[in-house]
Amino acid sequence: MEVQTRHSTRRDAVLECLRKHHDHPTADMLYNEIRRDYPNISLGTVYRNLNFFVEHGEAVRIPVTDGQTRFDGNVKPHFHFRCSSCGALLDLNLEDERQLEESLDHPKTDFKGSITGYDLVFTGLCKDCLKKKKETA
Ligand SMILES: [Zn+2]
Ligand SMILES: [Zn+2]
Repeated sequence: MEVQTRHSTRRDAVLECLRKHHDHPTADMLYNEIRRDYPNISLGTVYRNLNFFVEHGEAVRIPVTDGQTRFDGNVKPHFHFRCSSCGALLDLNLEDERQLEESLDHPKTDFKGSITGYDLVFTGLCKDCLKKKKETA
C-alpha cells in the first residue's frame, strides 16, 4: 500500500503565498514567488486562482487607478492607503472606522440611482517617503 502524503495543490500554494503577504501583492509578484516551488505554473493560472478566491470570499481585490490590481488575503473589512510616491499599498487603521463605514454604507445623498458599494483607497505619502522628503527638503 502506498503511503498517502498530503501534497498541497497549486491552488493551495497561491492562497498560502497570498496570506503570507501583508503588502497586498500583484498577481505578478505572487507568480514570481510561487514559480520557485512550482516552476511549471503560469501567470494565467495564478490569475485564475486569484479570481477564484475573490469570487469565493477568500481574497479581496483592491481597486487601484494606476498600476496593477492588488490582492489581499485578509478578507476582514479594512481600509487601505496607497503611497503616491513609491506605490506601497498599506492597511490603514482608523480610530473612527465604524462611523466612517456607517456613513459610507448609508450615504446621505440626493443621488437617484442605486448604490451597492464603494471603492475607497486613501492616498498620500507613506512614512518612509515622508521621511525622505523631509531629509531632502
Ligand atoms: Zn512611499
Ligand atoms: Zn489590506
